[in-house]
Amino acid sequence: MSFTVAIVGRPNVGKSTLFNRLLEQRKAIVDDISGVTRDRQYGVTDWNGKTFNVIDTGGFVPDTEDIFETEIRKQVRIAIDEADALIFMTDAAIGITELDESMVTLLRRSDKPVYLAVNKVDNNQRLFDASEFYSMGFEHIYFISSMTGSGTGEILDAITSLIPEMDKPEDEETKEGALPKFAIIGQPNVGKSSLLNALIGEERTIVSNIAGTTRDSIHTHYNLFNKEFILIDTAGLRKKTKEKEDLEFYSVIRAIRAMDEADVCILLIDASKGITAQDVNIFSLAARKGKGILVLVNKWDLVEKTTNTARDYEKQLKTKLAPFTDVPVIFISVKEKTRIFKVIETALQVYDSRHIKITTSKLNEVMLKAVEAYHAPVVRGHPLKIKYVVQLPTAVPSFAFFCNYPEDVKPAYRNYLENQLRSNFALSGVPIRIFFRKK
Ligand code: GDP
Ligand code: GDP
Repeated sequence: MSFTVAIVGRPNVGKSTLFNRLLEQRKAIVDDISGVTRDRQYGVTDWNGKTFNVIDTGGFVPDTEDIFETEIRKQVRIAIDEADALIFMTDAAIGITELDESMVTLLRRSDKPVYLAVNKVDNNQRLFDASEFYSMGFEHIYFISSMTGSGTGEILDAITSLIPEMDKPEDEETKEGALPKFAIIGQPNVGKSSLLNALIGEERTIVSNIAGTTRDSIHTHYNLFNKEFILIDTAGLRKKTKEKEDLEFYSVIRAIRAMDEADVCILLIDASKGITAQDVNIFSLAARKGKGILVLVNKWDLVEKTTNTARDYEKQLKTKLAPFTDVPVIFISVKEKTRIFKVIETALQVYDSRHIKITTSKLNEVMLKAVEAYHAPVVRGHPLKIKYVVQLPTAVPSFAFFCNYPEDVKPAYRNYLENQLRSNFALSGVPIRIFFRKK
């Protein structure tokens, strides 16, 4: 299950400052697709051992007053729809404004928990002034300074107390929990529904439809190639939204949610349009979440081809996906039904790779040879000596290299070791983690 917290509020109250503080040094995913809104940001963070998604709904760069209002209302509505909890941020230095009031009206109608964060309470005088915010009538009210971090711990304690303790193992016990879960994600119109229909077309393969753990995703239980798996789909959902709201925003939030439920993300892009900045953002978020990934270049029928077209296309695509380029790329046409089943076959392979267990003896045999073949450069006069390596018992393949000076290992050498692992073991589409520990 994924838990999503959205930060809403009028521009300049300090939403992105809080967002950056929550994400600390982790790189945020910035949504720069929209011309009207200030970058929206998405990220994943943890507090008290609980992991959750954070969305900063951004701000509007106003031209005229009424567009401004409409835009903000839209953001709030989407946040109310899609998030599990909301941080409603106001500004103590300015006090309550009309726009704040109109947002309160919207928020009152939602049944999601709302945490009022009165920001910029940097000192006692501000705290005193800020008492007017009690009049807004929220049950949860926090006086914070996003700039200094004061009060932010309390609000996070409150929010994370809503997240169920360790929901993973519980999930694993159910039948569905034990099956590979694949999420089909991608921007509107890349062909997600069509792909799903093409697969569903093989009626014999469907075992059952199960309501997703989040209200918005559909889980379909398949049996194909004698393998059972669950497809998580968020594609049909947009068709439910009557208002044309903000398709991109919905699709991103849904992709993130589907991703959280999945073991492997199947990312579709449109061959005729190429990969967009948004796709790259989603891709790197999946990698950071440690999900298996494969990329489908759909609508390949629309591309004029010569001998090397696919090869060149893939090469170009991968420069955009760097540094994580060891990813299966499949050129498909749902329309012409080419290579559709290869998708499932590959997703199953990625799933298996993500659960790879390499024995310590095999790992050391291969990796110590690699270390021997190319020694790390000498740092501060000490040669770096890697003694042995083990795979850690974690969900995402992780490797610990035991050495004499772990803090001296440079990124280039780390990358060399990762490449060696990748070229010797089946890890395509699987993000891996590498640690250096003191022997
Ligand atoms: P957003 O538009 O709501 O995302 O607001 P920003 O995060 O961009 O912040 C708007 C301005 O408020 C920036 O100049 C911030 O430095 C400032 N700001 C944010 N948080 C605080 C705070 O806790 N105290 C003070 N004094 N200024 C803050
Ligand atoms: P979704 O929004 O990602 O679910 O995309 P849809 O499945 O609704 O597809 C969007 C449009 O792309 C529809 O008009 C499809 O017919 C078309 N489409 C899907 N797959 C292909 C393909 O392989 N080739 C071509 N030419 N069009 C496709």
